[in-house]
Amino acid sequence: MTAWYPITVAAVFGALIGSFLNVCIYRLPKGRSIVWPGSACGSCGHMLAWFENIPIISYLVLRGRCRACRSPISLRYPFVELLTAAMFAGGWWFYGPSVLLASRLLFGCALIVLFAIDLEYHLLPNVITVPGIVVGLAFSFLTLPGWTASLLGIIVGGGVLWAIAEGYYLLRHEEGLGMGDVKMLAMIGAFVGWKLTLVTLMMASFAGSIVGLLLIVSRRGGLKYALPFGTFLALGAALAATIGPGVLDWYLGFYQ
Ligand SMILES: [Zn+2]
Repeated sequence: MTAWYPITVAAVFGALIGSFLNVCIYRLPKGRSIVWPGSACGSCGHMLAWFENIPIISYLVLRGRCRACRSPISLRYPFVELLTAAMFAGGWWFYGPSVLLASRLLFGCALIVLFAIDLEYHLLPNVITVPGIVVGLAFSFLTLPGWTASLLGIIVGGGVLWAIAEGYYLLRHEEGLGMGDVKMLAMIGAFVGWKLTLVTLMMASFAGSIVGLLLIVSRRGGLKYALPFGTFLALGAALAATIGPGVLDWYLGFYQ
């Protein structure tokens, strides 16, 4: 009971935060306020009562449909709530109450929002990435990775992608990577430092190549099909922040 109680509280709190992240994912690309008005059905505008707005549970009770117009509710809602709940519970279990936990959870929330928005709209809003760079750097004065590693992370993360974007443009005369990707990797660099930023980039490129090849093989998209790189950066960063240090040790072990 003693060990599970705080983890359960963290999960419930995470599910509530996940519900807020859903609001951000739905409203930020439309340029709407994330605090006002309350949540409504995306199809008929029916305002949600409190009991229709309980994370995960409401979706199950309503069987994934609006109570007023019966149109289906996106699976993204319970998925984001469940994922955020798991992240908060896992974070509490792994880090315990600490500055690093606060940093990692804020970082994770930003990654979830960027992942979902880039996947659906091919967009990485500045209102997440730019303050993210500042917040990541501010945290680095109190906890990992330390401010020098964080500052280098911003420069390396932003710089490498900026150089790739510029190089691609010069070669192909079309935009391959957007400035959103550049700012997002700078934000990742601020939170995890330059070493894990490079791990993020490797993992994101690897995952992106595999999905890209699968799309070509399954003939669902050619080489020109623009994959939202931010979704892969989010996946890569989540991996780098959790198993990244182990991967680095293993990789560097070859050179010892
Ligand atoms: Zn409705």
